[in-house]
Amino acid sequence: MEKFDAVIIGAGAAGMFCAAMAGQAGSKVLLIDNGKKPGRKILMSGGGRCNFTNLYIEPAAYLSQNPHFCKSALARYTQWDFIDMVGKHGIAWHEKTLGQLFCDDSAQQIVDMLVAECEKGQVTTRLRSEVLSIEHDENGYTIQLNGDSVQAANLVIATGGLSMPGLGATPFGYKIAEQFGLKVLPTRAGLVPFTLHKPLLEQLHVLSGVSVPSVITAENGVSFRESLLFTHRGLSGPAVLQLSSYWQPGEFVSVNLLPDTDLDELLNEQRNAHPNQSLKNTLAMVLPKRLVECLQQLGQIPDMTLKQLHVRQQNELIETLQAWQVQPNGTEGYRTAEVTLGGVDTKELSSRTMEARNVPGLYFIGEVMDVTGWLGGYNFQWAWSSAWACAQDLVSVD
Ligand SMILES: Cc1cc2nc3c(=O)[nH]c(=O)nc-3n(C[C@H](O)[C@H](O)[C@H](O)COP(=O)(O)OP(=O)(O)OC[C@H]3O[C@@H](n4cnc5c(N)ncnc54)[C@H](O)[C@@H]3O)c2cc1C
Repeated sequence: MEKFDAVIIGAGAAGMFCAAMAGQAGSKVLLIDNGKKPGRKILMSGGGRCNFTNLYIEPAAYLSQNPHFCKSALARYTQWDFIDMVGKHGIAWHEKTLGQLFCDDSAQQIVDMLVAECEKGQVTTRLRSEVLSIEHDENGYTIQLNGDSVQAANLVIATGGLSMPGLGATPFGYKIAEQFGLKVLPTRAGLVPFTLHKPLLEQLHVLSGVSVPSVITAENGVSFRESLLFTHRGLSGPAVLQLSSYWQPGEFVSVNLLPDTDLDELLNEQRNAHPNQSLKNTLAMVLPKRLVECLQQLGQIPDMTLKQLHVRQQNELIETLQAWQVQPNGTEGYRTAEVTLGGVDTKELSSRTMEARNVPGLYFIGEVMDVTGWLGGYNFQWAWSSAWACAQDLVSVD
């Protein structure tokens, strides 16, 4: 039976990076994946350009039952370290918005970089491999694969979350955690579009494709200022994706469709200057015309001139446009979610090494654990940082 210092299951962002770092430091590493290609989510990410990190990484941008858990790893392997590696591979990048860094060319460059780093670390990679069972005894971990078995002193689970089953996502990591007695917190889809109840969806259907700047606020007070996109299923766009991670079924969200406008002031000014101007045309100065027309048809915007609009109606209109209360029906679920909230309880793991506190040599890295970042490169940075922390420990215990 072939022996390795470490077997890493999952050749995604975290698994590849961990394999490369441990291999380069001298560990004999086997990297296993069930897919036919490594890094499939990386290839899909950032619209094919991979938003590989963010200039403003901070622990506050991560959701976890233990918000302190991510601090150590993020501080020890930072966005600057990863940017440095990207630079060494000659990958050109740009900041798109809010510190989000994307490849100029293609996400394939990040996968190629990770493959090259794994080759430099002499990592053995086995794709299209199923793990049939894992056993642990005084000799370490015995991993039965379809074909043969391998043995390793250390086992790293980097199988990610449940989002996008079409890209190879499985609950494997949670099952292994449970097999070894680790608690797994309930999981749910995050960074995912909202679906709407049928009557509202039918009313807003015509707006499919319309995007507006917005501030969206959850019932717990968390809010995001980014764009909102009306879709044929409901609401999407960065603001909605961000907020979905903070939303619980049944809750309302408050939407400000005019976050940069003092609507009261605008209406008063326009009324003084053009009293016979229609309310519809006035609002079309600051909102997409299709949205104004739709809201007028729904009776949310009165069909009148500015001089006819009295104070009570004006206040109601401001409420409608700047504190629109929407109760999502649900989310689109794991099928389109970018991430999975919850997962392996971080209380079970060392924040310095990602090793299970009570199971020597068993590590969890990346999205499989209960650490979920905001949209914008935060999730990949968690993959890099947690993988790096693990790799340092793998090397020190060899
Ligand atoms: C469409 C999309 C776009 C995204 N865009 C971005 C972005 O631009 N920026 C960002 O920061 N984050 C983005 N994310 C989130 C990011 O991709 C994940 O957070 C990140 O990939 C997690 O890394 P990971 O290594 O933990 O898991 P993954 O990258 O999901 O890798 C897990 C690997 O494990 C393998 N695997 C699973 N089960 C088994 C099994 N039983 N046996 C063997 N192998 C198995 C899978 O095939 C996969 O290769 C995006 C996600 C999606 C779905």
